[in-house]
Amino acid sequence: MNVSCIRENVEKIKADTAAFAGGRDVLLLAATKTRGAEEIQAAFAAGIDAAGENRAQEFAEKFKNGAYAGENVQFIGHLQTNKVKLVVGNVSLIQSVDSVKLLRAIDLRAAELGISQDVLAEVNIGREPEKHGLMPEELTAFLDAAAGFSNVRVLGLMTVAPKSDSTGENRQYFAKMYKLFIDNRAEKRDNVVMKYLSMGMSGDYRAALCEGSNLIRIGTGIFGPRQ
Ligand SMILES: *Cc1c(COP(=O)(O)O)cnc(C)c1O
Repeated sequence: MNVSCIRENVEKIKADTAAFAGGRDVLLLAATKTRGAEEIQAAFAAGIDAAGENRAQEFAEKFKNGAYAGENVQFIGHLQTNKVKLVVGNVSLIQSVDSVKLLRAIDLRAAELGISQDVLAEVNIGREPEKHGLMPEELTAFLDAAAGFSNVRVLGLMTVAPKSDSTGENRQYFAKMYKLFIDNRAEKRDNVVMKYLSMGMSGDYRAALCEGSNLIRIGTGIFGPRQ
């Protein structure tokens, strides 16, 4: 895509964010799956806060080739335990942790590297069988377990809401996520700080912002349609 369109899209989303988030600080992450280094760097030049990748292999290749130019990059896709080595320590945040087994694998790798890895707990708020994420009722046990690992920190929650056909349709899911977020923010657990509520994509970020999101993940809205 034409680089000047990337800038215009980022500026439009930032203006929307200011309007819909009521003065709250919101991070803008560009979902960069399938996008090349030139597009990614144009998005950073236009003012995104982070890039987010979905596939461990694609991330590792782009990372090695300097596609992020040392900027903030996060992981937002399903991560298999046998791929954690490709990701842990190379990203600032793994948003898509959805089992204690995966959390344990991340903790082990982070311990090997002598670091602490920040993560989010992914919640399947629409209870969709084809989606990843913890069921809402599994979240408490997951966060309790996180207290037992010393090389990971859970910094909040992430969700991919059901696809909606009309504006505002997803607000009920975002509202449920916000409730999980504030209820757990009030709990005191080691290694858990409810700082980020990551929700909202190209089609529904305005509704997510209205319901309390402070981290939106935008792909097509910045870069245009994927092939
Ligand atoms: C691709 C992706 C996005 C962005 O989706 P768009 O609809 O293109 O904005 C956000 N979150 C995750 C987890 C993704 O995989």
